Amino acid sequence: MFKQMFDAESSTLTYLIVDDLSREAILIDPVASHIDDYITLINALNYQLKYSVETHVHADHITASGQLREKLAAKTGVSKLCGAATADLQLNDGDAIYFGTQQIKVIATPGHTAGSVSFLWNDRIFTGDALLINGCGRTDFQSGDAEALFDSITNKIFSLPDETLIYPGHDYNGHRVSCVGQEKTINPRLAGKSKDEFVKLMRNLNLPKPKLIDTAVPANRMCGVTDDMVQHG
Ligand code: FE
Repeated sequence: MFKQMFDAESSTLTYLIVDDLSREAILIDPVASHIDDYITLINALNYQLKYSVETHVHADHITASGQLREKLAAKTGVSKLCGAATADLQLNDGDAIYFGTQQIKVIATPGHTAGSVSFLWNDRIFTGDALLINGCGRTDFQSGDAEALFDSITNKIFSLPDETLIYPGHDYNGHRVSCVGQEKTINPRLAGKSKDEFVKLMRNLNLPKPKLIDTAVPANRMCGVTDDMVQHG
């Protein structure tokens, strides 16, 4: 079972994957404000949420992982390079996460943040903000690095078969899925661009600071569960 969910406020895409036989489930990038939806869905279908994992420490929304740990006994997982000391799993490049007969492989894809990872499950990769549909994550905070992002995308994500489906961490234009071959060909930040051209483009984006960054980043380092979060809603 595979389900994609969308948070309209932050344009975040969240993914639920369930192993049909064991009913063990994993959530990727859950959003705190949707905690009740996740719990209702998981309980209604009699799933057991084994893991709640992050592609990175988010700057634009608060994760539901810590609450899912409290309410459903899920284990939380974040890259060990994210500085999220309270996460149960400190993920490394090449790790495998098992639920039922399913396996998700952790692929380090730094650049948007130093601790960004992608999750490969069968023919799909969940790229977080490393690679977006027709775009990519910004690289101007949280130890972002445009050169590292170029290498992550071109050497790791683009080395997968062209038909590998790309499920990003956000989409702001109503897209839901792409594939490696499509992004190689039409992604305006990458198609036909050298590393130097990409780096120059990323350094000149001049984007405004995310509204929630000062609240979200420290909260997400605690799996989204802090006194701060309560005060800020
Ligand atoms: Fe991000």
